[in-house]
Amino acid sequence: MTAPLITLTVRGEPAGQGNLKGTAGGKLRHANGRDLHDWRGRVRGAALDLLGAHEYAALGKSGVCALCSVPKTQHAELLGAVRLEAVVTVARPKTARSNWPITRSSSDWDHYGRAIGDALTGVTYLDDSQVVDGRCITTYPYVHELALGEPGAVIRLWAVT
Ligand SMILES: [Zn+2]
Repeated sequence: MTAPLITLTVRGEPAGQGNLKGTAGGKLRHANGRDLHDWRGRVRGAALDLLGAHEYAALGKSGVCALCSVPKTQHAELLGAVRLEAVVTVARPKTARSNWPITRSSSDWDHYGRAIGDALTGVTYLDDSQVVDGRCITTYPYVHELALGEPGAVIRLWAVT
């Protein structure tokens, strides 16, 4: 495997995306809305910082960015197929006996993947449909070789050619 094009280190409690709950008004909301919003903001912020990038700023209906004149259809780092691997470190409960988070104390791997995939849309790639090869590993601090010492994630992206 060649070296990743982009390696992001994000700190903070990872949140999964996918568990919905009904509101009194009959709408569906993410069950962990506030935590999810915070986590996605951290992931996106880490990518913007690393790449020295900015959010697309619509210039009327011109379809180009008001800040850099790049068309919206090209306003991301990677424009082709992408491989994404995330190693998500979750807090280890005091009662955990296993070396791996295999209880309901953490979210499902695909929910972590969905949150990270969405958070990076429009920054590292245009659309998360570009991720043709995705992998999400959940681990406790210091267990996996890319685990952090505290909750967070190491996210690596490669261009697939
Ligand atoms: Zn721009």
